[in-house]
Amino acid sequence: MGEDGVGSIYFQGTDPIENRQVGGGQFIQLKDQEKVIVFFVTPMEKLVSVYEHFWQDPGSEESGKSYTCIREGCPMCQAGNKPRYVTMAVVYNIEEKKVQVLKMGIKFWKNQVEAFKAYGSANDRPYQIKRTGEGFNTSYHTISLEKSEMPKIEGEVPDLMELIKALSREELAAIVGGSRDNSGGGSQGNNELAPY
Ligand SMILES: [Zn+2]
Repeated sequence: MGEDGVGSIYFQGTDPIENRQVGGGQFIQLKDQEKVIVFFVTPMEKLVSVYEHFWQDPGSEESGKSYTCIREGCPMCQAGNKPRYVTMAVVYNIEEKKVQVLKMGIKFWKNQVEAFKAYGSANDRPYQIKRTGEGFNTSYHTISLEKSEMPKIEGEVPDLMELIKALSREELAAIVGGSRDNSGGGSQGNNELAPY
């Protein structure tokens, strides 16, 4: 699992292979009833999809983090954590005048891609995205707004491929092993995991 594997995981529809932990305030996070107006900066053929684990160390107060699933021999999969298929795009948050990353599940993107295709572009108008509900009842409603020029982007545009870069199997195993050690026992048997 070299760093080189990363090039093979992007473009919508391909099975992502490698990835790494992502986090921080650059991701758009909406609460129930919250909405945001964004301009998609990433062209539709450059959307990036990966399998991603959300891993929370049970022995820690810290909130969990996302890690790219490395698929083959993935320690998090082996520990019973199911990866989620997510797709990301760089967006420009119009109200906050800020470049951010929008990461959403397949349901959101099915509709979104349909809109992009109907317009022939992902980048010719802003969209309002609103969240309703929480947990498993969360849904997102998107409205296409009037066609307009992409606003002048202030701030650096993040490299999605860099964001999803995978940790090595060893690093993932260390995180899984660390969680197990801190949990005070009682977690499901993942003894088959090699310590390296
Ligand atoms: Zn995995």
